[in-house]
Amino acid sequence: MIVEMRTGTTPEEIDGVVQRAKSLGLGVQLNLGTEKAVVALLGSNTGQIPTDLFAVLPGVASVTRIMKPYKLASREFKAENSVVNINGVEVGGKRIVVMAGPCAVENEAQLMEAARIVKQCGASVLRGGAFKPRTSPFSFQGLGEAGLEMLSRAKERYGIPVITEVVDTHDVSTVASHADILQVGSRNMQNFTLLAAIGKNSCPVVLKRGFSCTVTEWLTAADYVLAGGNSQVILCERGIRTFEDTTRFSLDISSIPVIRKVSHLPVIVDPSHAAGHWSLVPALAKAAVAAGADGLLIEVHPNPKEALVDGLQSLTPSDFARLMEELRTIAKSVGRYI
Ligand code: PEP
Ligand code: MN
Repeated sequence: MIVEMRTGTTPEEIDGVVQRAKSLGLGVQLNLGTEKAVVALLGSNTGQIPTDLFAVLPGVASVTRIMKPYKLASREFKAENSVVNINGVEVGGKRIVVMAGPCAVENEAQLMEAARIVKQCGASVLRGGAFKPRTSPFSFQGLGEAGLEMLSRAKERYGIPVITEVVDTHDVSTVASHADILQVGSRNMQNFTLLAAIGKNSCPVVLKRGFSCTVTEWLTAADYVLAGGNSQVILCERGIRTFEDTTRFSLDISSIPVIRKVSHLPVIVDPSHAAGHWSLVPALAKAAVAAGADGLLIEVHPNPKEALVDGLQSLTPSDFARLMEELRTIAKSVGRYI
């Protein structure tokens, strides 16, 4: 249930709503927007509570039930776009934020070279997986904590924020102590215990779409993080499973305008895991920016032929440099910049 307060409402009136909600055993989340305050009432029993119990309170403008399964990620809760601030890099503003780097941190030299290249080409964030749960248990699983330390050193040396995946609830605070953004992988989008643990942390998070999940399920997963109090959520479309087998996954471009319509959260696109082949990545990246994505997550490797993971879909430094130039033109044509 959403309680919208009148313009110019007082803190006492907002508190009156909060206290009534608490007396009814409901959870509360506040959106103290610039225009007007909104109080979200959360709980499994909101359906049984008459809206009048809140409509009569002083300062209340309207009370509406959100019929969608997701609440905090919805535009009903927050009408204006959310902007996530990553140590000065804003995701969800005018700038298209490019996060780029290797699929996995392989060694110090590879990561440093990747950081140098992506920074030089204008990327704002360095990506690199330290924990790499793979489809096969016999594939390279990442360097773990040693990889996190390499990311910290690359961040220090090149002055670029880093994003890396967290796969285990117990690792959330360790990963957050090295990373500027936590990445939740496609296979973990519905790992609700992990999402709840991340919700208790204040580190920004990129929530990748589960490749078999609908947009509604994705936004409902985002609610797990938001409900914990972490409002720094960025969504990432990375392709879904369809009958099509000429690409690794089918990039659901439609999800971008759909998210824009129904949610206030920023949305970025990973064209690399959708494409599965480097030659298709530029077209998907450009389409994403044209469709309104707030950023991109792209795999770039200093030498893709020697990559331990996802070499086939990784861009070479020169292909990435060219793509960045092309993206600047597309960004400009949609009123944004890189
Ligand atoms: C990744 O970006 O490193 C990754 C494993 O992607 P996904 O979770 O989308 O498969
Ligand atoms: Mn990868």
